Amino acid sequence: MKKQLFLKRGREESIKRFHPWIFSGAVKSVDSNVNEGDTVGVYSSEGEFLCRGHYEPGSIAVRILTFADEDIDEQFFKNRISEAYRLRQKYIFPAFTGNVPEHPSLITHHSSLINVYRLVHGEGDLLSGLVVDIYGDMAVMQAHSIGMGKSWKLIAKALTDVCENVKYVYNKSSSTLPKGKYTVADEWLSDKKELPATVYEYGHCFEINPEEGQKTGFYIDQRDNRLLLQKYSHGASVLNLFSYTGAFSVYAMNGGAAKVASVDSSAKAIAMATRNIELNFGHVANHIGTVADSFDYLKGTDEKYDLIVLDPPAFAKHRSAAGNALQAYKRLNAKAMERLVAGGILFTFSCSQAINKQQFLQAVFSAATIAGRQASILHCMNQPADHPVNIYHPEGDYLKGLVIYIK
Ligand code: SAH
Repeated sequence: MKKQLFLKRGREESIKRFHPWIFSGAVKSVDSNVNEGDTVGVYSSEGEFLCRGHYEPGSIAVRILTFADEDIDEQFFKNRISEAYRLRQKYIFPAFTGNVPEHPSLITHHSSLINVYRLVHGEGDLLSGLVVDIYGDMAVMQAHSIGMGKSWKLIAKALTDVCENVKYVYNKSSSTLPKGKYTVADEWLSDKKELPATVYEYGHCFEINPEEGQKTGFYIDQRDNRLLLQKYSHGASVLNLFSYTGAFSVYAMNGGAAKVASVDSSAKAIAMATRNIELNFGHVANHIGTVADSFDYLKGTDEKYDLIVLDPPAFAKHRSAAGNALQAYKRLNAKAMERLVAGGILFTFSCSQAINKQQFLQAVFSAATIAGRQASILHCMNQPADHPVNIYHPEGDYLKGLVIYIK
């Protein structure tokens, strides 16, 4: 007998509009044998089948996986992951071949070669609770729900069955699963891959180590924004704050920056940034990596820059923190604007889900006022197409950025 969950009267409206979550307040009853992470069929109070998804005790009671009366089994994951893979191959990376040169020196920096991308972006790929990033022949999965955490075997099988190039699968879910009874260690679900892995993004080369790095190893979502930055970098002195492994710095150098400073509070990140610069350009004197707090760095320098990148971590992970986060964005952006030359460019971002585009724009607007600078918006940036936003789940639209011209 399949496990069932019944909604309170009249609470099926959001499901009929395809919203991918059911909140606990809408639940009337759930079978007594349902455990966290189990698949449940969801029914209206009149007994009409509505959808099927993963159950979790907590404010999101069900993460919906299908509105059809189908099983969540091996074939289900294979179908969904195939669809995500086809979408990327057909529309997002039509030139993607997966064939990479044997050595970084064999590619040109103008190449469109990309073998690092997001294959599964949760609700945007109708797989609520799951993220999968591809790094060449390695897939890194992160489960954000217990149901996805417990489905690791099916997911790993689907990934190697569907993606011709994927030989290795790493599960990096220990820190992303909701706190509770079910825990996992980060581990290989295949043979262990020799790390670091070398990957390519628009022909730039990066070393990735998912065992040590943040997220799944790399901030893939900034790919197109980095390419845009490259176009603004010629001859510029660039300050890349919150640089992590220096991805923006590599693009700036490739765009012909006069000098680039990468700043991050993590010593490991700066060591990897230095390594990535070396991989692409050999030993260069015009890149400097500094381990420092970005706020302190801005306070402690009188230097003016032509271009500053601000890509901080999410200041607001929850709505309750949004007010403080907006203050922090305001202070940070004001300080950065003060350090730009007349005619300078600011690339500024927020990846906080709890802050929307309008609020972020308002914070940057206030920052310009505080800094007393005339400013114009040149571009609005967002996440790339391999991070699709489910139209019924606007919360998935998390990355926002502005390119600002400072007069
Ligand atoms: N721009 C990067 C991603 C940045 S992620 C890219 O394209 O890859 C945010 C980074 O900010 C992390 O590397 C984290 O170590 C760093 N960080 C967090 N708080 C910081 C602080 N107060 N000062 C400097 N770096 C900080």
